Amino acid sequence: MIDLKIYGYTAMDEEAEGFGDYIPARVTEVHRELYKVVCAYGECTARVKGSFYKDVSYADDFPAVGDFVLLGYNKQGDSQILKVCQRKSKFSRPDYSGHAAGYVKTIREQVIAANFDYVFILSSLNYDLNINRILRYITAAWDSGGRPVVLLTKRDLRPDYQEQLEMVQAEALGVDVFAVSAVTGEGLEQLSAYLKPGKTIVFLGSSGVGKSTLVNALAGEEIMNVNSIREDDSKGRHTTTHRQLTLLKTGVMIIDTPGMREFGLWDIEEGLGEAFSDIEELFLQCRFSDCTHHNEPGCAVREALRKQTLDYGRWKNYLKLKGEAKFTEDKSAYLRERKAFGKKLEREKRSRANAKAFR
Ligand code: GDP
Ligand code: ZN
Repeated sequence: MIDLKIYGYTAMDEEAEGFGDYIPARVTEVHRELYKVVCAYGECTARVKGSFYKDVSYADDFPAVGDFVLLGYNKQGDSQILKVCQRKSKFSRPDYSGHAAGYVKTIREQVIAANFDYVFILSSLNYDLNINRILRYITAAWDSGGRPVVLLTKRDLRPDYQEQLEMVQAEALGVDVFAVSAVTGEGLEQLSAYLKPGKTIVFLGSSGVGKSTLVNALAGEEIMNVNSIREDDSKGRHTTTHRQLTLLKTGVMIIDTPGMREFGLWDIEEGLGEAFSDIEELFLQCRFSDCTHHNEPGCAVREALRKQTLDYGRWKNYLKLKGEAKFTEDKSAYLRERKAFGKKLEREKRSRANAKAFR
């Protein structure tokens, strides 16, 4: 038997009345209609109860990674999720994918991670620190119900990191800010207060900031693919599908969903252009305005790569994201939705504030 406390479970309101035939469980993976959950009997697959689709009024009532749910356990086949328990924190985004939209007409909001304790906000010391971006992430983290912690990564590449650290500390009032290196391990000891068994952490940050490397360093094992590895042996590599909620040997849980990666790049008022503005500025310096940055003479990108003022991994990331940024295909539709979503959040905030004022 597994004690769900290991997975951060604390008694639910429902517990006093008893769950009947249902038991608590935590969602570790979300696939189209199939969920992976962990419960007292271990890991199993689950589906939402048939009536779920009729009963719920919001898409965000559907289970998300990190959710605690009530489960009708089935030893033989898929177990059944009866309900999602109240979330103490969540990140969501507008769901324009059509997933769940067929069932739920009202508001298409998709929760991508739930019940995390800390939001680790990563920013690399190696590039221009974008303090506004960090502050936006902090705001999003406070809104989510999680506690933000700012990690300035790749400290080993910046012997003069102290200055930047102090600058961010001065701006990010009330938030812990640390400079760390996942490669040398410097600064990681400062995180021990957060890395307690039963705690759940999500990571925010642009691609290339060193998220995978840090997760692996904290895990003490290789649980995420690091970009440089991806590049070197992209042919022979078999992608191990890692869990979206992973319990590390240390007892800490990490949430990493594709949704979080999109969230990090898109949901906080920044597109590829802003996240990679240093790269796009280079384009302006290429001799030919239609430079493809492969082998043209006078290419500023190639030059920067040669001089290593542009990190190769970062350039690869940029290309990869450009290629697969499916949102850009219909960016205007996406932006429209995002605006509507923002307005909805504002409305909710206002009505919450009003409700409080009348209490
Ligand atoms: P992710 O896209 O945020 O997951 O970033 P990765 O973990 O894949 O790292 C991107 C690149 O930065 C890789 O080439 C890493 O080796 C490198 N990197 C990550 N962390 C550090 C660090 O602390 N120091 C240095 N020097 N390089 C790092
Ligand atoms: Zn070029």
